[in-house]
Amino acid sequence: LFSLEPPEDHRICVCVRKRPLNQRETTMKDLDIITIPSDNMVMVHESKQKVDLTRYLENQTFCFDHAFDDKASNELVYQFTAQPLVESIFRKGMATCFAYGQTGSGKTHTMGGTFSGRTQDCSKGIYALVAQDVFHLLKSSTYDKLDLKVYGTFFEIYGGKVYDLLNWKKQLQVLEDGNQQIQVVGLLEKEVCSVKEVLNLVKLGNSRRTSGQTSVNSHSSRSHAVFQIILRSKGNLHGKFSLVDLAGNERGADTARANRKRQLEGAEINKSLLALKECIRALGRNKSHTPFRASKLTQVLRDSFIGQNSSTCMIATISPGMTSCENTLNTLRYANRVKEL
Ligand code: ADP
Ligand code: MG
Repeated sequence: LFSLEPPEDHRICVCVRKRPLNQRETTMKDLDIITIPSDNMVMVHESKQKVDLTRYLENQTFCFDHAFDDKASNELVYQFTAQPLVESIFRKGMATCFAYGQTGSGKTHTMGGTFSGRTQDCSKGIYALVAQDVFHLLKSSTYDKLDLKVYGTFFEIYGGKVYDLLNWKKQLQVLEDGNQQIQVVGLLEKEVCSVKEVLNLVKLGNSRRTSGQTSVNSHSSRSHAVFQIILRSKGNLHGKFSLVDLAGNERGADTARANRKRQLEGAEINKSLLALKECIRALGRNKSHTPFRASKLTQVLRDSFIGQNSSTCMIATISPGMTSCENTLNTLRYANRVKEL
């Protein structure tokens, strides 16, 4: 189960996940324009108009490490993305998994899973699935001698500022010392001993992330959420898995009609997503210069980009509808650039 170690020369894995058409899209008779012809291909069937006003389909094909159709479960997606990286944090590695895509395309569903309020019913997302394997490995004969403790952190980056989701959204400072070590000062690390305790942290943090509503203007769609699982040995950092639910990448609403605040937020998100792409690409090429200072997001994830033993995966989530075509193509192009070395 844990033999899926990524080979040294391929430390970046880029996958795409399509979600099903939702109720709203079905009601408004939106069309599903995405097909997944094989487990690593995505096709977009874009409806275009000729000069004589007749319509035709323009097909575009993209290839990734994996492509998941709308029937794929979180477990399946996990198996091909974050799971192969879990063991690396027991070997003093840094692992990172990003969910990238338009608001409403399934980033939070993939990373956080879903909780149905009153009952304890939940479908596990990648946060919980990573935690499950971490606790499993912790007890295995290979690693139980290391005397490791597990901690969780959960914070949000909004408008270039960092807020602790486990500590009443307290604003935190990010400092860089002379050795280029970055510290999020005062970030709360909660020790966790079971998957259930991890789920409680996820629930607590998510409740602080201003309502679960998925609207393009909601706060959560305009902030990056970072959930980290940290291994420490006698207090010292041993390994870290950062799981990042990125801000929505749609830009449409930021132009013309949008107010000044929205425009600034949009510019900040743009900047951080561009910086992220460059940092991941630098990691894959073993480049000496990684432009992590270009945004708060890449700054706080610095040790995941610089380390000798860092691996990254990205899950680009896409909406199937024709009304999302432009955003979907933007997401696929971005993911393509991250993958290209
Ligand atoms: P995002 O975080 O990208 O804005 P969400 O994860 O909140 O999007 O997803 C929007 C809605 O679509 C939610 O109600 C979510 O449960 C649903 N959804 C997303 N992805 C899937 C999926 N793969 N299968 C079923 N429902 C999904
Ligand atoms: Mg979300």
